[in-house]
Amino acid sequence: MRISFKTELKLNNIQKTQLAKHAGVARHAWNWGLALFRKILNYNQENPEQRLKLPSAIDLHKLLVEWVKTENPWYYEVSKTSPQYALRHLSAALTDFFKKKSINGRRVGFPKFKCKGKHDTFTLEGTIKINHRSLQLPRLGILKTYERLPQGLSPKTVVISRTADRWFVAFNYEVEPTPQIRIASVCGVDLGIKTLATLSTGETFDNPQPYRRSQARLARLQKAASRKVKGSNNRHKANMKVAKQHARTANIRKDALNKLTTHLAKNHDQIVIEDLNVSGMMANHCLAKSIADLGLYEFRRQLTYKCELYGSKLTLVSRFYPSSKTCSCCGHIQDMPLKERVFDCQKCSASIDRDLNAAINLKNQCITLA
Ligand SMILES: [Zn+2]
Repeated sequence: MRISFKTELKLNNIQKTQLAKHAGVARHAWNWGLALFRKILNYNQENPEQRLKLPSAIDLHKLLVEWVKTENPWYYEVSKTSPQYALRHLSAALTDFFKKKSINGRRVGFPKFKCKGKHDTFTLEGTIKINHRSLQLPRLGILKTYERLPQGLSPKTVVISRTADRWFVAFNYEVEPTPQIRIASVCGVDLGIKTLATLSTGETFDNPQPYRRSQARLARLQKAASRKVKGSNNRHKANMKVAKQHARTANIRKDALNKLTTHLAKNHDQIVIEDLNVSGMMANHCLAKSIADLGLYEFRRQLTYKCELYGSKLTLVSRFYPSSKTCSCCGHIQDMPLKERVFDCQKCSASIDRDLNAAINLKNQCITLA
């Protein structure tokens, strides 16, 4: 299976400028291609009899070389694969849109123009050499990393991206799945707002404390930024602070989720989770923030590939199954308002923690399914 590896680059100022130039060219190519595409779509709408053929990624690149590169000599200062891949990604994004594809339960929208400093990213292709703490890339030469890199790999492409003022490199590689010795065969998982996860085995994973503090700080910085005059230098500085804090918060959460999903996938044959309608819940204003904060998408994504990696099975239980309203001892169903933390069964008088009850129900549900 393919694993994606991402790590931060340790750069000097000259390298940072070079990377920013590459990202700038990729952005320019994307925006140029998108503008051209929109013109053609508009033309076709107005002249339905003489529609123009929509350009492929290869067509776009040919036109770019002919029209754009000659007029913008700075294109020659960067690797040619940077604009080339930007157009490929644009083409793929357009295809996804026309095919009405969904990602994480949300329909893919029409591609947007990219603005400077937001989601700066580009792809490089060519001879790539991976050393212990550096990698050699076409056009950019040797770039150092903070972390030791996986050895014995020769990826064909790498993706370089910027988050706040830090640059990252990412690439994919192939690994063999590794079977593990298990703690329990089946494990139900209930995700919560206060406790990150409760497992049917009785184990719990808390939401990391630094995460909450970090979140409070993020809210404060966002408020401060919104008070600064739009377009001012101070606003820009405040926004940079927000972006940095945002990245820090996301990292703390990602780290907690990584520990949880590794534990789950490594130690169980089968993991049962609720197939939550995340986009439906996002539409509910009261829940939206908590759900987004929980990182449910991220949880699903990590768990899916780790299950594959460790040879365990991931089972989804219908989101209409009332996991928190059912008694895990006798099967009695009763109302459970969100504020009630303990399930007190009205029928068999069992008393059990709300989240643990839900986790056990998920586990049992999977056994009945099998
Ligand atoms: Zn009961």
